Amino acid sequence: MPSTNVESRYRRERSQLELALEMIAFEARTRTIKGCTGLSDDRIRKLYTTYFKHERGPLTVRRQRGKSPRRVDVFFRSPSKQMEATTLALLMLHYGVFALSVGGRLSLAVPRQSVPFGRRLCRVYALFKTLQPSATLSFEQAWSLCLALTRGDEVALARCLTCDGQFVHDLLAAERSVCPCCRLRTSQSESAKAPQLASQAEARTTRPR
Ligand SMILES: [Zn+2]
Repeated sequence: MPSTNVESRYRRERSQLELALEMIAFEARTRTIKGCTGLSDDRIRKLYTTYFKHERGPLTVRRQRGKSPRRVDVFFRSPSKQMEATTLALLMLHYGVFALSVGGRLSLAVPRQSVPFGRRLCRVYALFKTLQPSATLSFEQAWSLCLALTRGDEVALARCLTCDGQFVHDLLAAERSVCPCCRLRTSQSESAKAPQLASQAEARTTRPR
């Protein structure tokens, strides 16, 4: 085999292995890792056993099996979850996971079943965890969000009617398009007013007549 072929094969295998290790560390499912890297189930299992199985403490990695979660409800369970989803979606947009087509529709910039796609998503997820260390959305949920945004039938990036910022919007929700930050601000100012109103009401009822 000519040396250039050997070199390119070596580089390809190395990038597959590096990506697989990164995805295992993020607790991606075997099926997801296999899709991006092209490695077999057996190879992925051996990587996990060799490099992660015996780690304990903060480096403990659990091996995820089965299908990736598809339900999008998790992104709208609370304003803070919706903010996490929004951070992920905007990082995906910024770091080339998506391509914006005419009409504002999101599509994948590179094929889903490829090493470049897996690397971009890993980069986004690593940045997301750096920006929001206490965030609870998993790598697999980030993956689901990415696919849901490209399908565009349940979730989409929308503009907030109050602040004009972009956010992940639930297309099936009846409420108007207000971003989670503005919703949180409104509920905080309402709860700050509540004790004031209560003490005013108490003063009125206890005032001597
Ligand atoms: Zn807003």
